[in-house]
Amino acid sequence: MNKQFACLIGSPVAHSISPAMHNKSFEYHNINANYEAIDIAKEDLPNIISRFREKDFLGSNVTMPHKTNVIPFMDELHPSAKLSNSVNTIVPRDGKLIGYSTDGAGFIDSLSEIDVNITDKIITIIGAGGAATSIIVQAALDSANTINILKRKSSTYEKTVEFAAEVDAATECTVNVIDLADKATVKNVLDKTDILINATPIGMSDYPGTPIDKKLLNSNLVVADLIYETTETQLLKDAKSLGCKCMNGEFMLLYQGARSFKYWTKLDMPINLIKKEVFHVK
Ligand code: NAP
Repeated sequence: MNKQFACLIGSPVAHSISPAMHNKSFEYHNINANYEAIDIAKEDLPNIISRFREKDFLGSNVTMPHKTNVIPFMDELHPSAKLSNSVNTIVPRDGKLIGYSTDGAGFIDSLSEIDVNITDKIITIIGAGGAATSIIVQAALDSANTINILKRKSSTYEKTVEFAAEVDAATECTVNVIDLADKATVKNVLDKTDILINATPIGMSDYPGTPIDKKLLNSNLVVADLIYETTETQLLKDAKSLGCKCMNGEFMLLYQGARSFKYWTKLDMPINLIKKEVFHVK
């Protein structure tokens, strides 16, 4: 069989570790394919999409700024992509291009690193941007009991309320939006929460601080921060000091890639090998 073609499209993409992850996984499974990162402008999307309709196309990842831009070119959208209005994985099937979002699933799968699953759980997530949206949609599709979105009252607040109502209506999960500044309600919600997730940039070295005052946390929470930097965020430091089970965003990308790989090849990404050789985990 001729060599198959897989890629990441976005801009910029030069820094991406996706080619290393996928090419190493192709090699492991003896799949004759090559994955490359392609820096592409919006006006060139029609060209690359017609390339995706050729026989040797195995699949593509999509990153910023094209996760929404590719949607009009898809023949079908998986509910994960439809509800989050975002495609990060394109899969060719029966002559059609199907758009998926594996970002949320990647985060949820990464919780296995700390033996946590989300079924029937009450989840509270801070922020409602791209990453939060994918996680909220996937957690609602994957049978979380309730999702509370803690959102600052900016110009995007009403949009978040509309999004929450849409996910609530489309799934069995209850989805609420709460003003992040309403400390009494936030405390009340956190007292009943199983898993707290930070999906804002607060805590990165460029945005120091914490999105939630330590006084509002409690030791029963599992606390996950999507931020991955070499230094631990203040939120995780506070949560650890209370004895909470904690996780950072280190492996979200790995598990998101593993989901894409499975859609394209029906095979499992060799997680431990990729951790060792691409993420340099000892
Ligand atoms: P995004 O689309 O820009 O969304 C950011 C969200 O945070 C928005 O809801 C924004 O609210 C909120 N926010 C920003 N500053 C805030 C503040 N000072 N107070 C309260 N809320 C604030 O970003 P994203 O792509 O979702 O990424 C969010 C975080 O996740 C980033 O730190 C990113 O590095 C991390 N991330 C990690 C991974 C991983 O693989 N580990 C993957 C994706 C993202 P407004 O709408 O009001 O501005």
